[in-house]
Amino acid sequence: MKIFSTIIGLSITGMILIAQTSEKKSKGFVMDKVVKSDKEWQTCLTPEEYQILREQGTERAFTGKYYNHKEEGTYTCAGCDNKLFSSDTKYDSGSGWPAFFDSLDETKVNIKRDLSYGMIRTEITCAKCDSHLGHVFEDGPKPTGLRYCVNSVSLNFTPKKTD
Ligand code: FE
Repeated sequence: MKIFSTIIGLSITGMILIAQTSEKKSKGFVMDKVVKSDKEWQTCLTPEEYQILREQGTERAFTGKYYNHKEEGTYTCAGCDNKLFSSDTKYDSGSGWPAFFDSLDETKVNIKRDLSYGMIRTEITCAKCDSHLGHVFEDGPKPTGLRYCVNSVSLNFTPKKTD
């Protein structure tokens, strides 16, 4: 009888552990994707936003609203409001585009090889809606050594609350 109840006890513990692990996984790694047709994107974005976010465009250097923006807060995706970058990691790269040495966390931004225009670059996209953000280069400051070079058009900004 004792052995029987021990076995039941152990299997219940096992089930709880499995449940906790899968809960952790769903919290950490599964993101609700935003999926829209090209037509829907054209409706909800301006022509300039559509060209940059959905057609891998690039705004002209030194023309965007955030390259010289120094307020404290969070930069979000202009396509889906996904929180992407903190002002804590923003720095002046001198390039004319907003630059960050890190994303908010590695689940927010996807990275892929971009061979367009005869260059080898690494494209960064929003992990939630796949909108184009910019490129990441390996000439950034410490601690990461990375430069996330992002179009202002791909971003919105939420100031830090001060109360
Ligand atoms: Fe997005």
